[in-house]
Amino acid sequence: MFEQRRPGAVLFDRDGTLIKDVPYNGDPARVEPMQGALEALARLRRADVPVAVVTNQSGVAKGLLTPDEMDQVNARVEELLGPFDAWAICVHDDCDGCTCRKPAPGLVIRAAAVLDVSPRDCVVVGDIGRDMEAARAAGARGILVPTGETRREEIQQAAEVAEDLSDVADRVLSAVDQAGEAARVSTGAAVWSPLVGWSRW
Ligand SMILES: [Mg+2]
Ligand SMILES: [Zn+2]
Repeated sequence: MFEQRRPGAVLFDRDGTLIKDVPYNGDPARVEPMQGALEALARLRRADVPVAVVTNQSGVAKGLLTPDEMDQVNARVEELLGPFDAWAICVHDDCDGCTCRKPAPGLVIRAAAVLDVSPRDCVVVGDIGRDMEAARAAGARGILVPTGETRREEIQQAAEVAEDLSDVADRVLSAVDQAGEAARVSTGAAVWSPLVGWSRW
């Protein structure tokens, strides 16, 4: 039940999760939020849950976009979706053998460190299996939000799948799990139990 307490932070993949995936995009004008992103982020911020971005940007290693272009795109993301409490970005490619490129856990660990929370108290939200593997490797809770591009086997393998970002916010902010909810309803009392579920001790 304490698995369901409010998380220390929610770490979002960028492309295909917070914004539409435009491969190797270096143009701020092409940044377009995903459906429900702003509202879901607003709900988390109102609940004082830190929000961060954990993103693979191998286009930099490939020479397809410059670090400056990437920064401009990220600035546009914050213009449209509000400020994030941390950004953890991997600018390497698969062959670089870094420890940050998802599915490695480095970005999750780095963002958690910046936010001064344990990776185990983090939720990682992403649109592909790499995001979920990074979450698992870091000991975080992973929630997959599939798009039309997400491979079927990655959806089947995901520990948790949400319909959209609004569903993610519901799941993250819900104080009790299904069993707790059912027990509460059946006893018809215990209005204090959400408070217990939300406590940090
Ligand atoms: Mg993605
Ligand atoms: Zn890296």
